[in-house]
Amino acid sequence: MQKLDLLYTGKAKKVFKTDDDSLCIFEYKDDATAFNGEKKGSFDGKGIINNQIANLIFKILEQKGIKTHFVKELSKRETLVKKVDIIPLEVIVRNIAAGSFCKRYGTAEGTVFSSPTLEFSYKNDSLGDPLINDYHAIALNIATREQIEEISNLAFAVNNALIEIFKNIDIKLVDFKIEVGFDSQKNIILSDEISPDTCRLWDIHTNKKLDKDQFRLDLGEFADVYHEVYKRLVEKYPNV
Ligand code: UDP
Repeated sequence: MQKLDLLYTGKAKKVFKTDDDSLCIFEYKDDATAFNGEKKGSFDGKGIINNQIANLIFKILEQKGIKTHFVKELSKRETLVKKVDIIPLEVIVRNIAAGSFCKRYGTAEGTVFSSPTLEFSYKNDSLGDPLINDYHAIALNIATREQIEEISNLAFAVNNALIEIFKNIDIKLVDFKIEVGFDSQKNIILSDEISPDTCRLWDIHTNKKLDKDQFRLDLGEFADVYHEVYKRLVEKYPNV
């Protein structure tokens, strides 16, 4: 597999073409951004940890029957993935109130929901990824009603699988964001990444934040908690 031209540079990853039109290579960077790109930071090795966490999680999800873009880890920072035509929606599932949900509704952080919630943001940096509802997404031809149903079912299936994975390493899954899109056969599959950058993860016993909120809120243990999540995952899932 040959790594060809840079297709796209994102906030935390670079995406390269390959000599196979249906495949791309992700290269994870050490950079972190928050608040719509206004706050910037990094730590050495973040890209390596996120690449390996995302791949381990995608492999477990595949074993549970969830279709993902994952093909093969090429190096510590690089992964071969299926090229996906991304649907411009950030799909957010929440089990416990935190972040923008608390700001929007005045809910106390840590309130456990009686059932998981689902919301969409319109992926558009210049607009600041505004919240969008299903009718808006359908009216703007971002997705059809049937596709919205399929994406929602996929998101809740991912939630059930992730809750179990993280529970096995003494972590509560507070919320997470996924991105989905069409593979070359036009199937909707899971893409992008699942990592402490895209999830809120709290220690089951202490509620310590083991995710990007360490960076967002300057809590001082940004690198340490990413290493901690990675360590717990590989100890629990050594042979995935
Ligand atoms: N999230 C993400 N990328 C975004 C926005 C949110 O990965 O551009 C994740 C975030 O890490 C959290 C969940 O989605 O796990 C819900 O985020 P929220 O809407 O509370 O926004 P935030 O407080 O992160 O601005």
